[in-house]
Amino acid sequence: MDSAKNNSMRQYTGIATSPGIAVGRLRVFDRRHLSVEEYAVSQEGVSGEIERLKAGLSRTCDELNALKEKLKETTGDDHLFFIDTHLLILADERLFSEAVAHIQTELVNAECALRRTLNKYREFFDGIDDLYLRERISDVETVIEKILRNMAGEPHAPIIPDGDHIIIAAHDVSPADILQMDRTRIIGMVTEIGGKTAHASILARAFELPAVAGVDGIADMLLDGTSVILDGLSGCVIVNPDSDTFLEYLQRKRQYEYVESELLKMAELPPETLDGYGIKLKGNVEVPEEGPSVLRHGGEGVGLYRTEILFMNRQQMPDEEEQYQVYAAMQRAVAPHALTFRTLDAGGDKLLDGMLHANEQNPALGVRAIRLALQMPDEFMKQLRAILRVSAQGDVRIMFPMISGLEELRKARALLDRAMADLDAAGVPFDRSIAVGIMIEIPSAVVVADLLAREVDFFSVGTNDLIQYILAIDRSNEHLTHMYQPLHPAVLRSLRRVVDVAREAGIDACICGEMAGDPLYLPVLLGLGFNELSMGATSIPRVKQVLRRCTMERAAEIATACSGFATAEEADSFLKDAMSPYLCNSLD
Ligand code: PEP
Ligand code: MG
Repeated sequence: MDSAKNNSMRQYTGIATSPGIAVGRLRVFDRRHLSVEEYAVSQEGVSGEIERLKAGLSRTCDELNALKEKLKETTGDDHLFFIDTHLLILADERLFSEAVAHIQTELVNAECALRRTLNKYREFFDGIDDLYLRERISDVETVIEKILRNMAGEPHAPIIPDGDHIIIAAHDVSPADILQMDRTRIIGMVTEIGGKTAHASILARAFELPAVAGVDGIADMLLDGTSVILDGLSGCVIVNPDSDTFLEYLQRKRQYEYVESELLKMAELPPETLDGYGIKLKGNVEVPEEGPSVLRHGGEGVGLYRTEILFMNRQQMPDEEEQYQVYAAMQRAVAPHALTFRTLDAGGDKLLDGMLHANEQNPALGVRAIRLALQMPDEFMKQLRAILRVSAQGDVRIMFPMISGLEELRKARALLDRAMADLDAAGVPFDRSIAVGIMIEIPSAVVVADLLAREVDFFSVGTNDLIQYILAIDRSNEHLTHMYQPLHPAVLRSLRRVVDVAREAGIDACICGEMAGDPLYLPVLLGLGFNELSMGATSIPRVKQVLRRCTMERAAEIATACSGFATAEEADSFLKDAMSPYLCNSLD
């Protein structure tokens, strides 16, 4: 018998993909044990194999559509995006033609052809630098596994374990698996593969299901039924914990849940300072599944919807209709609050498979964001029309990324006007007075902010890029993190200028970079005059807690003091001292 079954404690370390602590029983699901026969076929057998392949594809398509209908009734429309992704992979002509080519040229059966096709996809995805894109291979794997099961007459059954307090262990879990889980009984999930940005992890976070990925050997059937602790904060998984460890984690779990529940109480409270000065706190999102989490954490709408995620991991750009469906789902998820769309911000480190990006010497300064969008006006107009169509159903705003000056803004607005004219001609309704803003993330935009302010309805400061470009520090270079300084005088002066110009022009100015979600910087941003901050959903209660402990007067003092220092180091040490009364006792 395995030592795990012999009750000896064993600890595994993986990647924490969804926060929280779960204590329960491990149930192992290993779908890899699907037995698929692979054999050679004769020339005469080729057409028969192609027909079997087609039938497998069509049964899988029916299965996914049936699942979609069922989930619509139980879960609603808002989480169906992942099934649509799988349907799109299934419909991709290249998947079919690649498998057919294997059958025809290598004279193998359809199952073998599918496996070889998958291997080619794996090689391709392995060579991708971007982690998010690399992890999208799991969607292709799920779809091919479904086809193979259907060909074997063994449809992909949902994970339905017996008992309560179940922690699922699997080689991989698909987004559809998570959607179908009984979340009253399944309290955690650990997988052998996957990572933070895998679709399954995004869904686990959206459903607040603690999860750990990348734990080799955890889907071993011998571990089935053992008691287990899963720590989605540190990535630690302990099988057969001894009684001291068990008690220690029960204590940690209680502490974590207490902190979370206390922080969630913040959701009900108004986002205002001790002396009653109110600001807006909003969420940053990438997929519609994150919308409900923003509202639960007390966000009043979405200040940054990174639409480029929909364009990634695919060979073809999404058409207008597909974009409309996803954007409309996002709008419904955050209604009745406002939703700010950021138009396609691709290029640089966010390359799209569906287009040929130039091989650039310096991608951070290359054809990216609005520059890229303006180079492909037809594609860009599809996005603009899709967003405008959603504006007919609720409070929707639109903003352009990385605007460097008036020429780009005017070109983007001209395309928006053309998109409006297209919809008018087709008799499609939209909000003609939709608010149009820009992201301030290039130093030149700060310098000419007064000129830009005359032609937009709002500014949204992307501090992640603004700091990168002001200080010429690559935001993802781990050797320069100490020089990436939000309190550098050049950054603070730029922020002050943006907010002053906005106030003078009578337009809104908000911050949607990571700086907005760090409670340490709250008084500085508040004191500078920002009255709207947008951040990851789980940061909202923490920022609100500090907001409600601080007065506007103190925030202004802190901002003035920080702005008076000649170096970021001095400002930083002053701020940490000044903030200790607000941050200590904070439920972190
Ligand atoms: C920013 O640059 O601050 C921002 C919010 O955009 P992103 O992080 O997507 O570049
Ligand atoms: Mg940016």
